[in-house]
Amino acid sequence: MAIANVGEPLQSLRMILRTLAALAAVLVLGSASSAQTPATATLPFVLKQVGPGVYAAIDGPEHRAGSNAGFVIGDDGVLVIDSFFNLDAARALVGQIHRLTPKPIRFVVNTHYHVDHTGGDQALRDAGAIIVAHKNVRGWVRVNNINLLGDRITPEMKNRIDALPLPDVVTDKDLIIWLGSRKVVIRTVLGHTGGDLTVFVPDANVLFTGDMLWRRIPPNLIDGSVKEWTATDADFERMPDAAHTIFIPGHGDVANVKDVADFREYLADLRRLVVDGRKAGLNGDALAQAVLLKLKSLHPDWTISDRAGATEVRYMDQEIAGTKKRPIPTRD
Ligand SMILES: [Zn+2]
Repeated sequence: MAIANVGEPLQSLRMILRTLAALAAVLVLGSASSAQTPATATLPFVLKQVGPGVYAAIDGPEHRAGSNAGFVIGDDGVLVIDSFFNLDAARALVGQIHRLTPKPIRFVVNTHYHVDHTGGDQALRDAGAIIVAHKNVRGWVRVNNINLLGDRITPEMKNRIDALPLPDVVTDKDLIIWLGSRKVVIRTVLGHTGGDLTVFVPDANVLFTGDMLWRRIPPNLIDGSVKEWTATDADFERMPDAAHTIFIPGHGDVANVKDVADFREYLADLRRLVVDGRKAGLNGDALAQAVLLKLKSLHPDWTISDRAGATEVRYMDQEIAGTKKRPIPTRD
């Protein structure tokens, strides 16, 4: 999505324009044929049931939602995971939840601060949810999302980020949230931003990974530590019954443990190739070209754009050189 690779201003702009065009088309379509068009036909995401009362909302091919989200229906209420990039997509998610259950939406857990996962929080709050996040998200969600978008930010977007709701409940420790008798386990994990949570539903064996997992799409490394990130993914692979765990990535389709291993290998390959390139005296564009050529041949089923790939190589290079800037935890 637009925000998925922040080093890609042009591609992102194109995606935003495509999104706007798609939304316009939806509005026209909606007014012309709302009577016979099922509500799900125009959703910006594909809703997939992945367990009893557990749903993944996977960003559609046009990337109108901007990222994946999901929700868990418990005995006495609903817990939502992430809120997409924009309010319309989040409102559509609320509509789908209300269609499936009369139970109240009680929580939204933000897996991290990036606006493509928190942009719709207000729609969830309006629907009754308490916003739960890592403690660093409170300090980062307004300030660092401005940095994240860099020179692509529009005045409208800046206003939207300035007004993003701050989380109500924050933690730097693991948490259990009970939806009646249904247990939901929130864990703090390292690697993507320095303020990441995963959401596990033990009775359905479903793990919402946030951006700790991307399926066949290069991840956004802007705030990341590949070293910590690969360790977290190795932990996912060692989960009890990982072979049957359903993993909902932050971006890309519903995944399994093989996808987790594939993603971890991708990150490890990226790191190794950048180390090798540096040893061979390469830097800048030459380093990016050499790394991407090999990376694409090692992962032919991935969609790796040159622009996104070059940005990744740059961040990886900075991490190896020890010059990588990561978000700094703010005081309470
Ligand atoms: Zn992210």
